[in-house]
Amino acid sequence: METRQIANQAITLHRYNTVIVGAGAAGMNCAVHLCQFMEKKGIANPKERIAVVTAGLGLGASRMSGSDKQTYYKIGTSPDVADSAEEFAKSLTAAGCCHGDSALIEAIGSLREFYHLVQAGVPFPTDSTGTFIGYKTDHDPYERATSAGPKTSRFMSQCLQKQLERYGVKIYDAQEVAHLLTVGTGESKRIIGVVTVDKKNADESNRAINVFFGANIVLAAGGPGELFKTTVYPKGQLGIHGLAFKAGLIGANLTESQFGLASIKFRWNVSGTYMQAIPRIFSTDSEGKDEKEFLTDFFPSMSKMATNIFLKGYQWPFDPQRIKNLQSSLVDILVFNETQKGRRVYMDFLHNPIGSDSMDEFDIDDLEPEAKEYLQKAGALQKTPIERLAHMNTPAIEIYKENGIDLYSEPLEIAVCAQHNNGGFAVDKWWQSNIPQTFIIGEMAGTHGVKRPGGSALNAGQTGGLRAAEYIVNVYGCELPDYSDKQPEIDKQLSDIVNGFELYTSSSGLEPEDVLEEVRSRMTASGGHIRELNDAQKALKEAVKLYKGIQQKGFNSKDTKALITAIQAEHLALASVGYLKAVVELLKQGSGARGSHLVLSEDGIEIHPDVIDKATGKPLRFKPENESLRSTVLQVEYDESSPDLFQCRNIKLRPAPTDRKAFEPAWQDYREGKIYSS
Ligand SMILES: Cc1cc2nc3c(=O)[nH]c(=O)nc-3n(C[C@H](O)[C@H](O)[C@H](O)COP(=O)(O)OP(=O)(O)OC[C@H]3O[C@@H](n4cnc5c(N)ncnc54)[C@H](O)[C@@H]3O)c2cc1C
Repeated sequence: METRQIANQAITLHRYNTVIVGAGAAGMNCAVHLCQFMEKKGIANPKERIAVVTAGLGLGASRMSGSDKQTYYKIGTSPDVADSAEEFAKSLTAAGCCHGDSALIEAIGSLREFYHLVQAGVPFPTDSTGTFIGYKTDHDPYERATSAGPKTSRFMSQCLQKQLERYGVKIYDAQEVAHLLTVGTGESKRIIGVVTVDKKNADESNRAINVFFGANIVLAAGGPGELFKTTVYPKGQLGIHGLAFKAGLIGANLTESQFGLASIKFRWNVSGTYMQAIPRIFSTDSEGKDEKEFLTDFFPSMSKMATNIFLKGYQWPFDPQRIKNLQSSLVDILVFNETQKGRRVYMDFLHNPIGSDSMDEFDIDDLEPEAKEYLQKAGALQKTPIERLAHMNTPAIEIYKENGIDLYSEPLEIAVCAQHNNGGFAVDKWWQSNIPQTFIIGEMAGTHGVKRPGGSALNAGQTGGLRAAEYIVNVYGCELPDYSDKQPEIDKQLSDIVNGFELYTSSSGLEPEDVLEEVRSRMTASGGHIRELNDAQKALKEAVKLYKGIQQKGFNSKDTKALITAIQAEHLALASVGYLKAVVELLKQGSGARGSHLVLSEDGIEIHPDVIDKATGKPLRFKPENESLRSTVLQVEYDESSPDLFQCRNIKLRPAPTDRKAFEPAWQDYREGKIYSS
């Protein structure tokens, strides 16, 4: 560690072989594997070569998010149902836009990483024979899902952190990433360091700037949760997408955000047993008065309505292909429709669904077979939803209690929220980005396609970290970097950053909070689960204008807290341009509704005569998916000179490798390190 004075600021410089940004389940796992691979290479002290940098050790989706039983998706471990990596990969690629090689690798890596988590101490349940018990989630034809309860990903992060602490690897907490340092251009471009502001020590005179130089950089900063206004991502989960774009990293499948029903007072997904308990769903006016059973106008019978509430449990993300003919995603549309009218929607676990005059009373015996048989098998035939929920999953009630909500006495307010991005940044089969020696893992990596089985995000994060660590140690080695020959380039960027902060304290600048509010409102309105080309084009124009406005006017941040918000607002504003550019491009290509979003079209399919498009006052109609686009991935790259600041292109899917060598030649490839070049 050394300190340098640049533009009147003391800057602390650190040097590691590999710097990991993000301390969620993905970042922690990669750090552990780096230590293991380094040890295998005979490196005595991996802790001197690896650092983790995070905005907050307790922050991020892994540590703060979950659902009724947060899911980990792995190859099936049932004693009597055979599964294979190829079958698993098919489930990942089924809805298109997903590379075959990374899907197969996520399949192959799933058990290795699952057992790593088991060994690390994550309490995945077994039966008396030691079988890890599985269940079915959305888009999952097998029972590959398992769970350690509502807080699976928190347990993962904590257990992995304990492993990491045994290696003594340093975690730099409260470090807000402000810039990714780059050198070179074109093919020789490299990201060589991460510039942060130490949030605990920064003040008006000392910005407390750190630079973490790395020969290798692993980005594991999670999804862009704060990009949306209606979101179930935990508060403070920003991500670094804008900074990554600026450094030259290429986005992939950014259009494929996932949305679903979640509680909003305490941000938590209401998937699985919350819905399978079949609570009453009702709305009120904005004051909490005028209760209405709004679903009843749209379903012909109590049986149909209650069965669809049940099915939302494992058909949880909003899915436009599950709207027609009264399927479960109609529930999301109706909840959204209600909130669009300024009403509030709640789940009430004290009462069964209440029907209209023409409907029968709720009766479990009248449910359609899928729902009825599930509840019978689970023994969840109690009288009220709260009793059924308590029977099936007590921890799902406790998690709300821990967060100040008593499901025994109050209803739960819900909305259709942004919850995950299946897209992210483009990576190859070793999770290396388009810039050599920069790796992207976890939710930041865009390895999922249009749809993904529930729980596969956590598996992808683990497998990606394993792959990146293996490649770094075996291909790039374990040495610390020497960037002395790049000093002028580095100094120039650092002084630009320091001087740039001056623009953040201009009295005529924009208010950082106002910028964030504008970005989030626009993304939820125009890049959310309902999209339309003209609207998205208008939103893109406004987003570009906002970002250019920031460049010209700067921010009016009055103190250090506001300075941090300004840094965040600037990169989120750029991220929103990248996302909207992708949305517009996909709509222009005639994509139609897919994944987790609807595309409106006047000549499309009518959802229901009473579900009205707010913009036109006419029934909402959507365009079906254009399946020909399934064979490509839409990539987005920052280009300052382009009018929309980004360029798009379609990339063909990489197939899954099919060559299988005999043991001896494969062993030789392994010994000679050829596996890293094929
Ligand atoms: C409500 C909810 C329920 C979910 N349920 C499931 C599920 O059941 N199964 C499943 O597979 N997936 C689920 N997911 C998705 C999954 O939880 C996430 O994709 C995964 O945890 C992301 O892990 P990660 O390590 O990539 O990022 P995160 O856990 O989000 O960690 C990001 C890290 O980066 C840091 N960071 C972020 N921004 C900055 C910045 N600007 N500067 C410095 N550091 C920064 C954070 O502080 C944190 O340390 C769910 C997500 C949500 C929101």
